[in-house]
Amino acid sequence: MAVRFNQRYAQYFFEPVAESFEEEHWNAIKRRELVFQRCAKCETWLHPPRPMCYKCHSYDLEWVKSSGRGKIYSWVTFTREANPFYRIPYEVVLVEMDDEKGVRFISNMAEGNAEDLYIGMPVELVWVDVTKEQPLPMFRPAK
Ligand SMILES: [Zn+2]
Repeated sequence: MAVRFNQRYAQYFFEPVAESFEEEHWNAIKRRELVFQRCAKCETWLHPPRPMCYKCHSYDLEWVKSSGRGKIYSWVTFTREANPFYRIPYEVVLVEMDDEKGVRFISNMAEGNAEDLYIGMPVELVWVDVTKEQPLPMFRPAK
């Protein structure tokens, strides 16, 4: 089952609060672009965003737009309500991104059926408006 929302609780959905070093990640999401941080010096991908490269300690980081393609690394189906905004059941997926080596991104499946999911399943980015002002990057089976 794909993720669905109980609109009665949309008024309680808070915009994500971003630290200064991750603002561009969230600003890009508002523009419906999924971007990831990469070290300009050693080209290591960094996610979640951080102020400094963990590998070479450089502060020279850049934002790169993602193709949004990846494969399911793992997932879980929520069958008990943890947050009333999310109608159960829904899947939380950990997607290993194809073009950003080492980046695993936590999101939801916006389309598809839980029983069809498998580890290594190709998925692609899709944008879902959780409120009028806030799109979020989610995934569907790759076409
Ligand atoms: Zn680096």
